[in-house]
Amino acid sequence: MPRPARVLALLAVTTAIFAAGCGNATEEDDARLRVVATIAPVGALTQAVAGDTVRLDILVRAGVDPHEYELKANDARAVAKAQVILRNGLGTDAFLDKALKDSKALVVTLTDGLALRLEDGVASRDPHIWHDPRNDIAMVDTIVKALSAADPAHAAIFEANGRAYQERLHTVDREVQAIIDTIPMANRKMVTDHEAFGYFAARYGLTVVGSVIPGASTGVEPSAGEIATLVETVRREGVHAIFAESSVDPKVARRVAEETGMKVVDDLYGDSLGSPGSGADTIDGMLLSNARKIADALK
Ligand SMILES: [Zn+2]
Repeated sequence: MPRPARVLALLAVTTAIFAAGCGNATEEDDARLRVVATIAPVGALTQAVAGDTVRLDILVRAGVDPHEYELKANDARAVAKAQVILRNGLGTDAFLDKALKDSKALVVTLTDGLALRLEDGVASRDPHIWHDPRNDIAMVDTIVKALSAADPAHAAIFEANGRAYQERLHTVDREVQAIIDTIPMANRKMVTDHEAFGYFAARYGLTVVGSVIPGASTGVEPSAGEIATLVETVRREGVHAIFAESSVDPKVARRVAEETGMKVVDDLYGDSLGSPGSGADTIDGMLLSNARKIADALK
């Protein structure tokens, strides 16, 4: 963590201890900017920019599927109190829409203005844009601007942290490419659980041959016909592994793997991140973790 943030974090801790010492420490004593991030990747980027300078509530935590998420009572409370709400957009935070009506927060959609991946010449509605670090770098800029507008006193900290994290993301981008480059050209093909890795594949030169769940959401069960088509594609293309995700039930993926003799890797991070302390609880850690698992399975 860059120095200014650490100093401020210490100050925040000291203040908290002091408040606790007075005997009536409540949530209301926390004078920090109240920020809500809708999904785990947005939360991780916000954390990298803000450190402990803001009070951050992440609604869809690591390990939880955002596609099927419904707003809980304590989420609605966090949204009502939030001064800044950071959302991903492209449909991943639709669960928030109802709660937003009563909110006076500055609401910022991080994918607004980003160059979306093209699919058959049309801008893709694939929301999983954080799997390309260039998008993360752009989103860090947006987060720095949003937090600085809401809390100008801490703008210098947000800017310094943001710049440091963007440098980290540039480095990780090169490291991930180097890892993927160890896979023989002919093996750079993936079958995934749902269509979460389009941005990753496009950035690093992999081909997503098919997905178990058709589409970019997780709420659909594939039909018998769709599974049969996938099995046929996998055989024809000679795909070595099927990649399921930490937050999606891998039962259909396992069935396809059994029929085709493919390996199953069932702990890639598609929608989510690793639990705290796993090393994949940050965007940079998650990207490296996925790259290593993909390379190990396809080499
Ligand atoms: Zn997804």
